Amino acid sequence: MSTEAPYIPREKVHDRDGLVDLKAFDRAGLEAWFVDQGEKRFRGHQAFKWIWQRGVSSPQEMTNIPKTTRSWLEENACIPTLATAGVQVSEDGTRKYLWECHDGSHIESVYIPDEDHPSKPRRTLCISTQVGCAMGCTFCLTGDMGLKRNLKPGEIATQVLQVAQDLGPERPITNLVMMGMGEPLHNLDHIIVTLRTMLDEDGLNLSHRKITVSTVGLVPAMKKLASVLPVNIAVSLNASTHDQRVQVMPITKKYSMAELMQTCKDLPLPRAKRITFEYVMMAGFNDSLEDAARLIKLMKGVKSKINLIPYNENPHRDIKRPSDAQVRSFQQYLVTRGLHCSVRAARGRDISAACGQLGKGKELQEPSVET
Ligand code: SAH
Ligand code: SF4
Repeated sequence: MSTEAPYIPREKVHDRDGLVDLKAFDRAGLEAWFVDQGEKRFRGHQAFKWIWQRGVSSPQEMTNIPKTTRSWLEENACIPTLATAGVQVSEDGTRKYLWECHDGSHIESVYIPDEDHPSKPRRTLCISTQVGCAMGCTFCLTGDMGLKRNLKPGEIATQVLQVAQDLGPERPITNLVMMGMGEPLHNLDHIIVTLRTMLDEDGLNLSHRKITVSTVGLVPAMKKLASVLPVNIAVSLNASTHDQRVQVMPITKKYSMAELMQTCKDLPLPRAKRITFEYVMMAGFNDSLEDAARLIKLMKGVKSKINLIPYNENPHRDIKRPSDAQVRSFQQYLVTRGLHCSVRAARGRDISAACGQLGKGKELQEPSVET
């Protein structure tokens, strides 16, 4: 796997006070920036560790860095945090965090604990990658917002840092999914920096086996991501034919179902990895056994597992969730014909934290702030 050049952001890394955002860099990028400023490379490494391992929010806390360097940093750089605008806790233990960014826009992260998971507890965090989303999938409430802006690398990784701080060392996050608000691969450059920080053992130190990036199917970005980082990829398929997918996912007009499936077949996946195909089941639309039969054909030659997501109903759409019996027989059909297939449990529905429910609270009621 290529590790690529250090990330030195092309766009301005300054926040609104003209300070350099130290969270905008991956480790190699931060080291290079320190060198560029006439400082020692290893000081950049130390700063990186303070930011991502110790979670400091001021250079003054970096006590193994000389005072003069700290003061210089204080004057020229910042370590932005997300303001907590609210935390809701579901009866099933799911926690939804509402964050306010520096420009006043709001994003959400959802923590989903599974303490009874076989072998050891699974504690998954689902994070946002954009404010809103440009992809306009008809069934998805985040799509209604349109795209307000891309999240910066620091804003994406800070969701993980701050939730970990809130949960404490006795409840470490074990799995990370980019399945919150936004289309991660539409913000690819920033996602790559964020993922490097997450994977870095002096950063957030998560395993690539435990990180999943979910995409609507942006073909060139899928190829690029798979060629530079070994994380898991999930594709929101949601249909069993091209024509059906076009109806609910406009991106299909750009990248056809055939092109998407061919891309999935050709991705350079490590031996043990499979692509997850998310399949939102909508009653009377894509939940018949004919759909299941077509899915089997589509998956020929693809290292796949299917994740069925019964539609989470909401007052903004006239879409129904299939019955449990229907979901079970669909799953059964696939499993008995050799596919790996699971059904995603709806978690945190009482606090609107389930799939497709993000963003409809604050962002849809209030005009969002753009800078
Ligand atoms: N943009 C990326 C990442 C967001 S993941 C993507 O689409 O893959 C959001 C997931 O929730 C997607 O798989 C989407 O298909 C699913 N989803 C959206 N609205 C939903 C709803 N009301 N019920 C269940 N799943 C939904
Ligand atoms: Fe965007 Fe994903 Fe929702 Fe589609 S399903 S509108 S890509 S967040």
